Amino acid sequence: MFDISFLYEAKDVKDAIKKLVENENSEIVSGGTDVLIRVREGKDAGMGLVSIHNISELKGVSIENDGTIVIGAGTSFHDITNDDIIKKYIPSLAEAVDTIGGPQIRETGTIGGNICNGATSADSASTMVALDACIVLEGPEGERIVDIKDFYTGPGKTVRDRCEVCKCFKIKKENYENYFGYYFKYGKRKSLEIATLGCSVLVKLNATKDAIDDVKIAYGVAAPTPSRAVSAEEYVRGKKLVDKNLLDTFADKALSDMKPRNSWRASKEFREQLIKEMAKRSLVNSIRRAGGKIEYYV
Ligand SMILES: Cc1cc2nc3c(=O)[nH]c(=O)nc-3n(C[C@H](O)[C@H](O)[C@H](O)COP(=O)(O)OP(=O)(O)OC[C@H]3O[C@@H](n4cnc5c(N)ncnc54)[C@H](O)[C@@H]3O)c2cc1C
Repeated sequence: MFDISFLYEAKDVKDAIKKLVENENSEIVSGGTDVLIRVREGKDAGMGLVSIHNISELKGVSIENDGTIVIGAGTSFHDITNDDIIKKYIPSLAEAVDTIGGPQIRETGTIGGNICNGATSADSASTMVALDACIVLEGPEGERIVDIKDFYTGPGKTVRDRCEVCKCFKIKKENYENYFGYYFKYGKRKSLEIATLGCSVLVKLNATKDAIDDVKIAYGVAAPTPSRAVSAEEYVRGKKLVDKNLLDTFADKALSDMKPRNSWRASKEFREQLIKEMAKRSLVNSIRRAGGKIEYYV
């Protein structure tokens, strides 16, 4: 038995918002893989749960005429990994969500829950930050769109109001076209493991594939919120792949952009080492996926 005051199955997004407004001590439940743990631990005991689990408009992946990819907030990790649009255009997101939990969690957990829980360790978050995703929220006052860079306000905290439903995520064509990516999750186990550190890189090479046009690099658990390493990105733009300082300087700059901390999972010093090493390996793997050569790195 769960200690909850009610479980309401919302018919659609507006119905969910109405129920949330009517009940101050209530929250959204989607897959429930975070919420039910919090209820069980007593942190959310006695809450009313407004379920959006069966709202079909929140599920699935589509592509708009201008190439914008739309991912429904209620889409499960399993469905994202196996979706043809995701596999074709943003396979590093498929890769990232395929590292989450185990098969049962990936079948039940949703990308909306993963982003809205505000966790820096959320495995979809760094890739969504690298992709410059936009978040579509609907609340009692109507709809608003928030850039993911403005969404997180602190550990477990976001700008989302309790009564706002995250409907979907939008990724514009210019943010994924010609980019090749790689997600690196470091944990002590291969599955059922929250990331000690996560790193997502997207790279775009020039036409001759011997220089970098653009790089986006984002980390999870390297700072209180999922964060981009902006000075590392600036440094590598326009750099030739034969430049032997490329990887080391990229890694040093990435570290200077982050604020890792001690936790029971890992020390600050170990995370600092991971930030540098994962930056290099993720950049090299992305470059190789893009058809570039970095021969001096093995
Ligand atoms: C055994 C286990 C292993 C796990 N392993 C991992 C892992 O490896 N990596 C990882 O990142 N996570 C992991 N998790 C955490 C969890 O599975 C994910 O965070 C998941 O994405 C949560 O999605 P959900 O649909 O279950 O969210 P829920 O539990 O339903 O909700 C999570 C939070 O988001 C809010 N919310 C959900 N959907 C919406 C929406 N559409 N609009 C507005 N608010 C919303 C809820 O109110 C709640 O605050 C694990 C959990 C368990 C139990």
